[in-house]
Amino acid sequence: PPYPIFVSGPVVKGYGRGGKQLGIPTANLPEHTVDAALQNIPIGVYYGWAQVIGDGVVRPMVMSLGWNPYFKNQKRSGEVHIIHGFDDDFYGKEMRVAILAFVRDERDYACLEDLVKDIQFDIRVALVSLQREEYCKIKDDLFFSIS
Ligand code: ADP
Ligand code: MG
Repeated sequence: PPYPIFVSGPVVKGYGRGGKQLGIPTANLPEHTVDAALQNIPIGVYYGWAQVIGDGVVRPMVMSLGWNPYFKNQKRSGEVHIIHGFDDDFYGKEMRVAILAFVRDERDYACLEDLVKDIQFDIRVALVSLQREEYCKIKDDLFFSIS
């Protein structure tokens, strides 16, 4: 697919597993956004930029798009971990996401520790890759400056 892919929507409640079990909270995109805007995007892990409206700052993110085989989800979900320590939850807030690149396919895991290790590696890949000038420029895109 042609990158960047811009998507936005209010952050919805998931199953409450990302943060609590893994120490890696993921802000879930609404079902219709995943079904419509991301319907032709292969499942897997991506990185890019994300912004929570109200906060405004454009921050690095890793996104999982898929079925989460470890948790045996029934529905495809789009979940964004923003690489930043927030003081509070931001359910219901509008989130804007620019998907810039595919990292890897979705995997299944024998244990949670292996899943967490992979996500931590994805985060490092994202932080290094996002330093590229062509990616940094996207932070200045009109998409992120509309109020
Ligand atoms: P849920 O299953 O409801 O998505 P999570 O355990 O994945 O629950 O936690 C996600 C929520 O945590 C987000 O909706 C957001 O409000 C909050 N949150 C706090 N910090 C972050 C972060 N760095 N990235 C994404 N979400 C975060
Ligand atoms: Mg989540």
